[in-house]
Formats: sequence, structure tokens, C-alpha cells
Amino acid sequence: MVRTRIAPSPTGEDIHIGNLYTALINWAWAKKHKGKFIIRIEDTDQERLVKGSEEKILQTIKEYGLNYDESTDIGGQYGSYRQSERLSVYKKYADELIKKKAAYYCTCTKERLAELRAAQQKQKQIPKYDKHCLTKQKEVKEEIKKGKSYVVRLNVPNNREIKFNDLIRGEIKIMSDNLDDQVLMKSDGFPTYHLAVVVDDYLMKISHIIRAEEWLSSTPKHILLFEAFGWDLPIFAHVPILRNPDRSKLSKRKNPVWASWYLKQGYLPEAVLNYLALMGWSHPEQKEIFSLDEFVKVFDLKDIKSSGPAFDIVKLEWMNGQYIRKLPISNFQLLINNFYGNKLDRDLIAKTSSLVQERMKKLSDYMFLCEFFFNKPEGYEIDLSGKKDLLKKMHESLSKVVDWKADEIGKTMQDLTKKEEVKAGEFFMILRVAMAGKKISPPLNDSMEILGKEECLTRLKKLL
Ligand code: GLU
Repeated sequence: MVRTRIAPSPTGEDIHIGNLYTALINWAWAKKHKGKFIIRIEDTDQERLVKGSEEKILQTIKEYGLNYDESTDIGGQYGSYRQSERLSVYKKYADELIKKKAAYYCTCTKERLAELRAAQQKQKQIPKYDKHCLTKQKEVKEEIKKGKSYVVRLNVPNNREIKFNDLIRGEIKIMSDNLDDQVLMKSDGFPTYHLAVVVDDYLMKISHIIRAEEWLSSTPKHILLFEAFGWDLPIFAHVPILRNPDRSKLSKRKNPVWASWYLKQGYLPEAVLNYLALMGWSHPEQKEIFSLDEFVKVFDLKDIKSSGPAFDIVKLEWMNGQYIRKLPISNFQLLINNFYGNKLDRDLIAKTSSLVQERMKKLSDYMFLCEFFFNKPEGYEIDLSGKKDLLKKMHESLSKVVDWKADEIGKTMQDLTKKEEVKAGEFFMILRVAMAGKKISPPLNDSMEILGKEECLTRLKKLL
């Protein structure tokens, strides 16, 4: 049974777009194997908790359509899925590690640890705990009985090669001497990430740990823990971290990082996921646009490349435009209605949608292009004060149009350009700005048909 998970920490205002990528891969892998996709909330770092973060993360994942099978809000067989509600579980397993001598108590003070670190740095050594307390566990236990604050540390064995196979990166080897005796239980009774992640991945029967590359260096510590408990290793796959187009780590400065930002701008969830699927992976037929179902079918973890793919919002915008274009018109209208909170005039959306569907890259472009249908222009992008004569003639000819249809409007205006010997480009720019306030609008004649004769004449009159 394939069981995958993501384990977000509720320490930000939403799920990071990079974590949404990891979620997509986990979701797709579970789907592909008719397995389960789990969300576990890793809130062991109580100082960094952000209120509302957990709810927002789950909501955003749902809005993207990555349905999950077990989590804090829907429960499941292996709950609780919130680590802060599992403290007694971690305590039990920490005790087991101590019994097995795979972990030990440490009562070193902050000051001692700081001195140790400073001394090691001075000698250009990698800062590492020196196992000071390991050599005097009896004394340490006495101190703890008397109330001294303590942590539990991993007892990293000396001089051992730790080996594991990563589905994306192949065999990875590291010498244990490079590892620190990591704290597993903190003095506040909370586990650290390292203990909690291993215990939970085991208890929740996670078969594949698919997570970002930044956790790769933690994996050897986790392997020591799995071994100490006598548990079989899950399969590991570390997916690449998304980068800005200039290769720097995806950061707020260059790209919006919260996944819900893209939805708020009117990116379609399927387009964003399609784009994310292409991070570090390509379709066997080099297709750029494919459905999620197709992705699930053809993708394989081992085909993901490990080098950091560039997340390019310009490319994403292009792709989103392709998705918008392909929508059946009624779906497109529905999306526009929903996007604007069902507050806009539905008829007007229905009338205008076919004029703009091909021109839009995201749903928010709709108002940019169509605002003038809903509201009279408040300002004009070019100064029309010197054009009154021409505007007056436009008004005169248009008021004579009986059959108010785009063709008829167009013909009437063409005739007028010729009669007045004004260049068509200039003429229609003036008319466009008079109607829409802007130099860019959907096709003008069609727009004027939708606005209606009376409204068009009123808009011209206002300028006279
Ligand atoms: N809590 C970690 C995070 O925020 C989870 C890492 C993992 O998947 O093991 O990404």
C-alpha cells in the first residue's frame, strides 16, 4: 500500500508554492498507486506557530483540488495528525531509545554549549555536541530527578557509513562523524522534528517519504533512528527546490510565494499544477499542457531531475492563458462570476465573455479589459479636449444608426473617417478612449453594440 504524506509546519500565512509542488508529487504518487495521501501538521516548534496557518494551508490545498485521505480536519485511522497532540507518543519512543542506548539525557546549559561551539569554531571544526553528558548518565539522571532541565539527544555512533537509496538521487552515503548528536526531545517536553517525523512516518505507515531537497541532510539521522527502533526504512525521494529564473532560491522578493496568491490573481488551479508538474520533469512526448489525470498516468518519481528547476511566472501566465482559452464558454463565464464573488451582472458577463476569453491570461484580466461595461470611464488615457469637433460628428452619425449592431456601427464609423479624412488608427483610438477611457479594449464595434446606442451616445455627449 502506497502511503505518502506532506508534513507542513503551520509557521507561515499559507502553504508555500514550493510545498504545493511537493504536495502535488506526493498526491500524484499516491493516486498513481491507488494509495493514500496524508497531511500531518508538524507544529512542534511552538515558538514559530502562526495563528490560522493550519486552516489556511488545508484550505489552499483543497482549493487546488489535491484531495487528501487523512489529516487533522478529516481524521483517519492513525490520528491525531497534529504533532502537538501526540506528545505522550514521542515520550514513549524517546524512553525506548534511551533504554536501547541510542539516545541519552543531556543537562548541559546554554552557556556550556555556547562555549563549546565557540571553541570548536576557533579551531575551525564543525560545531558538534561533544557527548559530555553521555559519559556521566548516572549523574545526569540524578540532576534531572532534582529538577534540572534536560533534553534527550541522539547517540550518533562513531565512524559508521550511513547509506540509503534516494529514488531521485540514487545512492547516498555519509559518514556518521559528520552528524551531530541531535536533540530529539526538548526541555519543554516537545519532540524535535527529527524524532517526531520518524515516529509518525512509522506509525502512520508512510511508504514513501517524498520531500524537498532541503531535508536531505536530515535523512541520515532519521535512518539511525529507524535502525535503532528496528523498523524497516521507507523509500526516500528528495524533490528539487524551486528556484527563481536567476537560480536563486524562490523568495518573496522575486516571486509571490504563497500558493493562494496565484488563485487570488485568477490563475486556474489546474494550470498552476500543470506548470508545477513540469518542474524538474518533462512529459515523455514533450507535451507542455496535459491534465492532472494524464500526469498521474505518465509520471514516475525516478524521472524527476534533481537540479533546481526555475519557476518562471511569465511562463506560468502564458500557460494559464492557454487554459483559459480552452474553457467552454459557459465554464469560463461561471469562473468569472465566481472570481468576482458573484457580484457582477451575469448578463453582461455572458455578453462580453466571448470578446475577451482569448485575450486573458488570468481571471483578474477580465476587469482590466471590461470595467467600462460596468462603470462609465472616470478618466481618459488621452486628452480628448481638442477633439470636440470630431466627437460631435461621431455623435451625429451614430445617432442616425437604426440597427445598432457591430457591423452597422463599424460601417458608419468607417464612412465618417473617410468623409472627415482622419486616419483610421487615430479615429478609432479617439472613439475607443471616449467609450472605454482606455487605449486598450475588446473589439470596439462589438463593445459598442453591447454598451447600447443610448449609453454610447451619452458617453460621447459627456465629452462635448
Ligand atoms: N515539517 C517539515 C516541513 O515543514 C516536513 C519535512 C518532511 O517532509 O519531513 O517541510
